[in-house]
Amino acid sequence: MAKLSVEDLDLQGKRVFLRADLNVPLADGGVADDTRLRAVLPTLEHCLKAGARVILASHLGRPKGKPDPKYSLAPVAKRLEELLGQPVPLAPDCVGEAVETQARSLEPGRLLLLENLRFHPEEEANDGAFAQALARLADCYVNDAFAAAHRAHASIEAITRYLSPPAAGLLMRRELAALGRILERPERPLVAILGGAKVSDKLTLVQSLLDKVDALLVGGGMAFTFLAALGHGVGRSLVEPERIELARRAMAQANRRGVHIGLPVDTVVADSPQSGEGRAVGVREIPGHLMGLDIGPLTLARFTQALSGAKTVVWNGPMGVFERSPFARGTLGLARAVVACGAFSVVGGGDTVAAVNQAGVARKIGYVSTAGGAFIEFLEGRTLPGVAALAERS
Ligand code: ADP
Ligand code: MG
Repeated sequence: MAKLSVEDLDLQGKRVFLRADLNVPLADGGVADDTRLRAVLPTLEHCLKAGARVILASHLGRPKGKPDPKYSLAPVAKRLEELLGQPVPLAPDCVGEAVETQARSLEPGRLLLLENLRFHPEEEANDGAFAQALARLADCYVNDAFAAAHRAHASIEAITRYLSPPAAGLLMRRELAALGRILERPERPLVAILGGAKVSDKLTLVQSLLDKVDALLVGGGMAFTFLAALGHGVGRSLVEPERIELARRAMAQANRRGVHIGLPVDTVVADSPQSGEGRAVGVREIPGHLMGLDIGPLTLARFTQALSGAKTVVWNGPMGVFERSPFARGTLGLARAVVACGAFSVVGGGDTVAAVNQAGVARKIGYVSTAGGAFIEFLEGRTLPGVAALAERS
């Protein structure tokens, strides 16, 4: 079931509403990390070369439904201009008469960047009239914002009622293909690695992955809720007591399915994440006054072992507080192990991708997703509104 793609559209002279996810981190009035801008370049360049007039739209941050200069797309326009080597004018708003006039006067092969969609509360409300106002700017619609596809927002969902047929951009297509490879007929063994802070964010993902994977490795803060479920004392480590029972059930579910769940056997403990150093202890010996902030060396060795022979690996969530060097070893070591095992690997999640970059192995990962929330929801097997809204290829 393939989605209609931007390559299937006749774009010559057409005004294309291109919904991208240009929600990049900012610092000192500039773009701190332009990964998401680079990721949309292939679609942008395809449209411009095909003679389209591109109306580019995105949200940025959480401006609470009203204009806020802090969340202007101006820094994005500036960086995109450098990447594209052509002017990227920024409209004063994303809807309204002035913007419509600007969009109408756009020449083929040129683009106009709309101001932050979330300056209007109607965007997140998936408001029909607002979507219609956006649709008035263009003749056709392309969605390249996979990272935002789990949101039923006006520029993602409602707008597809007014601009037809809604097509997938090239990044959207790549994301769907790479992540689809995990869910549909993956080469086995398929190993999933989950980590990060909270188990509550990812318990549904654990449950749905258990139906699909051959082994599941759990590290990071979320591992301690599993260890607590096994009766270990975990000191002051991150634990969600109200999730212990669910963690226990997930382990029973794994048992019934014959899925191996790998949990830490040792952990690097310290006073706090700000601590200058930590020491590795077995998970049966976690001192009551300390917290586990990374997987220990024995665990890293076991996880590395569990990866050997894997044909497909999917990873979301760091193994420890990798932002702090005393607690980064497990995550960075695992990143190298994922690459070394030779499997087709897919990595997603803002922090996990940052860790893979920090380890210097991003280029050897099979596919690095631009998404966090959408990555997780897709792997949970949920229908993403932004994907469901796209037309099927006939
Ligand atoms: P992603 O953004 O890749 O989806 P998450 O946001 O779920 O990942 O988790 C990343 C966060 O988890 C990081 O900020 C990291 O410091 C934190 N973390 C990982 N392990 C632990 C731990 N043992 N204790 C506390 N926080 C942890
Ligand atoms: Mg995160």
